[in-house]
Amino acid sequence: MYELGSRRYMTPKRRFLAALYGGRVDRPAVGSATSVATVELMDEMEASFPEAHLDPSVMARLASGACEVFHMDNLMPVYSVTQEAAALGCHVNWGSSPDEMPEVRSRVCASIDDDVKMPDDFLAKPPIRVVLDAIRLLRKDYGDHVSITGKALGPWSLALSAYGVEEVLIATIDKPERLAQVLRGLKEVTLLFGRAQIEAGADSLCIPDHVTADLCRPEVYSEYLLPIHFELQQQLDCPLILHICGHSLDRLKYIAQSGMACFHYDTKVSAKDARRAAGDKISLMGGVNNPSTLLFGSPEAVAKEVHEALDAGIEMIGPECAVPLRTPNRNLKAIALAVDEYVARSEG
Ligand SMILES: [Zn+2]
Repeated sequence: MYELGSRRYMTPKRRFLAALYGGRVDRPAVGSATSVATVELMDEMEASFPEAHLDPSVMARLASGACEVFHMDNLMPVYSVTQEAAALGCHVNWGSSPDEMPEVRSRVCASIDDDVKMPDDFLAKPPIRVVLDAIRLLRKDYGDHVSITGKALGPWSLALSAYGVEEVLIATIDKPERLAQVLRGLKEVTLLFGRAQIEAGADSLCIPDHVTADLCRPEVYSEYLLPIHFELQQQLDCPLILHICGHSLDRLKYIAQSGMACFHYDTKVSAKDARRAAGDKISLMGGVNNPSTLLFGSPEAVAKEVHEALDAGIEMIGPECAVPLRTPNRNLKAIALAVDEYVARSEG
């Protein structure tokens, strides 16, 4: 597979991990910290929703499509943001067809004054165990060659699931001290699940923590989450990828101080602006728009955005967030092809 003297001397795993820290690579990495599952991929891999949220072998098989079909450098087997919520006691509707995303239907706490009770057997709860078992399977089949990214929600996103968006946002104004205490408590959930995924074989972790500008001012990030994110990246023994969709330019200067290896950004921020704001303190992942380009655009339109992201110095090229389920596979395949084309052109 690897020829002596080939310009491509890195395994996908090494390329992905090197790019996470902004290091030397034989080609810019292609990958995603969030789901690349599509209905078309489910058909191709014979692994569909909702089983892919609930059965470890189906979950792992669908995840392997990222490298088998899309030629990405990493695999990420968690397709929703509901696994932790379900384990903490929220009612989750897992859906009944391949084009339906799971949804949290009930909160565990009605008021920000209530504590989220962490079950003693959290890691043994089925929605958590399925992720750990899927990572073990992927590690065995792909782990020497392809990077395996786990996913553990950050405390802000856990609070949104447990209390509901409104309750959390009101607390930023009415009860800032109580909210800080809640986030500190929920950080333990991120740590516990993150550590278990590393032990199962994940070599990087996506931390979605949706402190988007669509919901709150940038200081909410710096006051509540920056210190917690700094601790998380010190306490979890692998590179972390922070994921925040929506507008994030106004908080990127804080995110760049978090010590996170990488920030998975939304194309509501241009690649150039993201690079300028992040400087060289944090790697950037993404660059391709989901709702218009990947879902409705052509492979040529995808290639154009890939090339713009590479021109701006984005280290890891991929979708900006979990892809819409009806995204055509040809557009996801176009990402790695466009990176290869860009590199071939620049190498002459
Ligand atoms: Zn997202």
